[in-house]
Amino acid sequence: MLIVKKFGGSSVANAERIKHVAETIVKSYREGNRVVVVLSAQGDTTDELIEKAAEINPHASKREMDMLLSTGEQQSVALMAMAIEALGYTVISLNAFQCKIYSTSTHGNARIKDISTERIINELERKNIVIITGFQGYNRRLDVTTLGRGGSDTSAVALAAKLGADLCEIYTDVDGVYTCDPRIVKNARKLDEITYDEMLELASLGAKVLHNRSVELAKKYNVNLVVRSSMHDTEGTVVKEETKVEKMLVNGVAVDNDVARISVIGVKDKPGVAFKLFSLMAQKKISVDLIIQSIGRNDTKDISFTVTRGEMEEAVKILDANKERIGFESISYNDKVAKVSAVGAGMATNPGVASTFFEALYDAGINVKMISTSEIKISVLVDENKANAAAEAIHDKFISEGIQAGNN
Ligand code: ADP
Ligand code: ASP
Ligand code: MG
Repeated sequence: MLIVKKFGGSSVANAERIKHVAETIVKSYREGNRVVVVLSAQGDTTDELIEKAAEINPHASKREMDMLLSTGEQQSVALMAMAIEALGYTVISLNAFQCKIYSTSTHGNARIKDISTERIINELERKNIVIITGFQGYNRRLDVTTLGRGGSDTSAVALAAKLGADLCEIYTDVDGVYTCDPRIVKNARKLDEITYDEMLELASLGAKVLHNRSVELAKKYNVNLVVRSSMHDTEGTVVKEETKVEKMLVNGVAVDNDVARISVIGVKDKPGVAFKLFSLMAQKKISVDLIIQSIGRNDTKDISFTVTRGEMEEAVKILDANKERIGFESISYNDKVAKVSAVGAGMATNPGVASTFFEALYDAGINVKMISTSEIKISVLVDENKANAAAEAIHDKFISEGIQAGNN
C-alpha cells in the first residue's frame, strides 16, 4: 500500500517522541508499504516563532512571517530523517520546494494549487521513506508560503490525493474524532466514523483536530482518511462519504476561541450602510462570521459582527478611517468571546432543537451575545470564560442525555 502518515506537533515534540514516531513509521515500511510522512513543527514551535517575531516587530509582513514559521516544519523533517537513519533505514526529507507544493500567493493562508509528485515517486522507487514538511508551500514568485494554522493536515491530504494513496492517516494526541473536544467535555465520546460533511462542519466551527481545508480536499478526492493516536495503537476515527451510524440530531459540539466581536454603534438607519461596511471588510479580505443588527436610539441602529482575533485590530482601523463615509457614532470591540456550536444533520427537520439548545444554556446560567443558525448548526457567541461550560451543557443535553430526533 501507499500510505501518507501525518504527525502533529505534540507527536514530534521532543527527541523521545520523534524516536517513537520513527519506530511507528519503520514498522509500516517493514510491512511492505510505501510510506510518505508529513510533519508539523515540534510542540509549540510555531507559537514560539510568532512570539519571537512580535518581540522584534509586531506588524511584521506576512511574507517574512512565512519565512520564519516555515522553519519549524523544516527542523522536524530533518530530525525525523535522522531518527530513521539511526534505525538503519533509507530515508530522505524534503521541503515544499523540493516536492513542488505550489500554492496561491496569500502569505499566512495560502491554498495548495498543485503538487508535482515526480521527486516523491522517484524517492519511493529508490526504497526511501519520504518525510515532507507540512504547512509549507511556495508561490509563483518562488517565495515560501504557509497554509494557515493547522495546515499540515491539508498538506497530508493533498499529497495523499495527488499520489493516489491508499490511505491517509492523521496521527495526533487524541484517539480520534470525538463528539466534542475531549479536553473540554470529559465525557465526550470517540466516534468510530464520521462523514466528510459532518467533519467539515465541525472543523470549520473550531474543532481543530482536522484543518477544515483538509476535509474539503478529502471529500473532493475521496481520500481514505483516518484520525488516530500517535501514542497508542488504537483504531481511530474513519472520515468518509457515508457512515452506517444512525443520523443523530446533534452529533458534535465545537468551540472556537479565535473570535472577536466588533460593534458599530449609532449607524444611520438607511439603505446601503451595511453594504458599505461589509464591502470595506471584503476589500481587505477580512472574513466576517456572525452578524446581528439591533435598533439603536434616534433612528439609528447598531451592527455587530465577528472576525478572527488576528484581524480585529485591522478591521477596527479600517472602520475608524471610514467613519465619515459609513456614518456611525462609535465602535466597541471585545476579543474575550468565543463561539460555541452544535452540529447535526437531523436539525433541519426537527423544530425543537433551538429551544432545547437555549434551555441548556439557560440552565447553566450562560448569557448569549449573538446567535446564528443554519440547517445543520446553531452557533452562539458567549464570554470566553463561559465557552467550555456552554459546550458541556449543550453536549450533556443532546449527546450524553441522548435527546435525539423523535424523542425530544
Ligand atoms: P496536531 O498537533 O496533532 O495537529 P491539534 O492540536 O491540531 O493536533 O489537534 C488535536 C486537538 O484537537 C486535540 O488535542 C483536541 O484538544 C482538539 N479537538 C478539538 N475538537 C476535537 C474533537 N471533536 N475531537 C477530537 N479532538 C478535538
Ligand atoms: N505548525 C503549524 C501550526 O502550528 C501547522 C500544523 O501544525 O499543522 O499551525
Ligand atoms: Mg493540527
